Amino acid sequence: MLLLIIPPWFAVIGGYIYNLRTSVSDALTTIERLTNNIKDVIFVLDMNLNYTYVSPSVKVLRGYEPEEVMKQTLYDSFALSSRDTAIRALYGIMALEKSGKDLIDRTLQLEVERKDGTTIWTETKFSFVGDKNKKTVGILGVSRDITERKHAEERIQYLATHDVLTGLPNRMMFSQLLNQAIESSRRHERQFAILFIDLDRFKIINDTMGHDAGDELLTEMAKRFRQSLRAVDVVGRPKERNDVVGRLGGDEFIILIEEISELSQVAVVAQRVLGTAMKPMIILGEECRVTASIGISVYPRDGEDEQTLMKKADMAMYFAKEEGKNNFQFYSQNTQSQAFERLSIETNLRKALERNELYLEYQAKLDFKTGVITGVEALLRWKNPLLGLVTPTQFIPVAEETGMIVPIGRWVMKTVCTQNVAWQSQCLPPVRVAVNLSLRQLMDDKLLEDIKAALDDSGMAPNLLELEITESMVMYKPERLIEVLTKIKNMGVRLALDDFGTGYSSLAQIKQFPIDTLKVDRSFIRNLSQNSEHKAIIEAIIAMGKTLSLNVVAEGVETMAQDEFLREHVCDEMQGFYFSKPVAPDQFTDLLRKNNTPS
Ligand code: C2E
Ligand code: MG
Ligand code: MG
Repeated sequence: MLLLIIPPWFAVIGGYIYNLRTSVSDALTTIERLTNNIKDVIFVLDMNLNYTYVSPSVKVLRGYEPEEVMKQTLYDSFALSSRDTAIRALYGIMALEKSGKDLIDRTLQLEVERKDGTTIWTETKFSFVGDKNKKTVGILGVSRDITERKHAEERIQYLATHDVLTGLPNRMMFSQLLNQAIESSRRHERQFAILFIDLDRFKIINDTMGHDAGDELLTEMAKRFRQSLRAVDVVGRPKERNDVVGRLGGDEFIILIEEISELSQVAVVAQRVLGTAMKPMIILGEECRVTASIGISVYPRDGEDEQTLMKKADMAMYFAKEEGKNNFQFYSQNTQSQAFERLSIETNLRKALERNELYLEYQAKLDFKTGVITGVEALLRWKNPLLGLVTPTQFIPVAEETGMIVPIGRWVMKTVCTQNVAWQSQCLPPVRVAVNLSLRQLMDDKLLEDIKAALDDSGMAPNLLELEITESMVMYKPERLIEVLTKIKNMGVRLALDDFGTGYSSLAQIKQFPIDTLKVDRSFIRNLSQNSEHKAIIEAIIAMGKTLSLNVVAEGVETMAQDEFLREHVCDEMQGFYFSKPVAPDQFTDLLRKNNTPS
């Protein structure tokens, strides 16, 4: 809101001029006398909009002598940004006069040019100058410098519409831009897309490295996203578009891509954003990598108003998270049911532990050479009265994101150790029991305490516990991970690298981790018969495992052919439906007993 301050002397001069019984020139000499010592600039224009008077104070305001201004056209007095506004307003005032109407003071904010080329903002008030017969003979203008106020207003406006940390448009401004895009796309019958971006595992970084680290990461991401938008011309759209990236809060960013003719163009941008997010970055002196998940909705296909488009992009983003993160998804009907499912998983999972809805199944690991069960993997199960049996691939990502995996994981570890000791007390041969760990757990300060408590309380030997981490975690801040893993290792607990072959880790990287076991991902085993490339990969992984003196386990062995191939290639152990599915503890007791009895 602009506040108009009418200087008291203005009324005096205005009234004086209006009641002037003299001609304009007589009036001017009077104004000159009055205005000599006034800071604001007074000027008078004749009916052709030429200056007839400019007060000496113009020297301070614009750096020109009054005589110099008198020679200027009105147009030249204003800065580029205000020329049209000023001229249009003055012609409007003239039109009023011609139609015989009174000019109720008109005040405009105008940017004017100074002699040194800089500009300042003025508030200029216009009114008519009349002669003794009340006939209008000119226009009186009074300008005052409001640059400071204008800048303060601009700053306030900026703060209200931008995110302070990253400088990106905030939720409010993005909403305005989105509505403009809807409006213009409706008019021109065009499509546009919004990309809802959520960083993966940001919460872990924020919780474990502190908020400064989190802020640094968000700032860097904002910079990268902005840069990746600048490069989108590659997708072959016209140069002048209004693509924007904004921050909605937390680790949520949003991108608006206008004027798209094909969805493949959006996919190119989304892929670029994923690529740019994933590049390593140094945060508080440490290198780390963060990936992003993106949900996309398209106007008008998925919705024609802001709320629908945002909701659907958000749902698609959750879908991308469920699909294993670090990917993008377009909204579809399928996404919708998935998103609702996720929400109900989250709500119900919160109560699962206390309601005893969680339990474990155990899957044997078999030594290829001896045919003896050497180990067992504990796999988490959840049966909810409302949702039925929910698979770990559905609920574990939710447990990870919400942090619920920490208490759940603690319960798993405790239950597993107690169970293993119970088997031993039934005089069954000792087996090594494996527990899956999430990154979220590895980053938890209390993890070591939890492991120690599970071992101490149950009395299980540490070397009978094996913790499985996935290869995808290796990408995340290796130094910190190596530190935690080394501490675990020093407790006498074994470590396995799960789902190996799906990530990007190299031999050099793997060597740095204090692991004992490599578990070849089941996707390679599954395609063994058809895919010669997978055969070659498995051979290479086994060879690599041997070089590093690691125990190599093949996951997901389902057929005799797979079993034979692996046996031939001297893989150490196997796990899979071919020998046993994951089973309840009692069934595993039977399996162990049978396996132990010579046939
Ligand atoms: P994972 O650790 O790689 O576990 C192996 C998965 O492969 C299990 O799926 C198992 O049931 C399945 N599997 C084993 N043999 C075969 C086979 O021959 N064919 C086929 N098609 N599948 C086989 P599940 O139980 O659904 O677990 C999925 C993932 O959930 C696990 O993958 C693990 O990453 C995670 N998970 C399970 N339990 C826990 C837990 O207690 N904590 C954590 N953090 N993650 C867990
Ligand atoms: Mg596992
Ligand atoms: Mg696995």
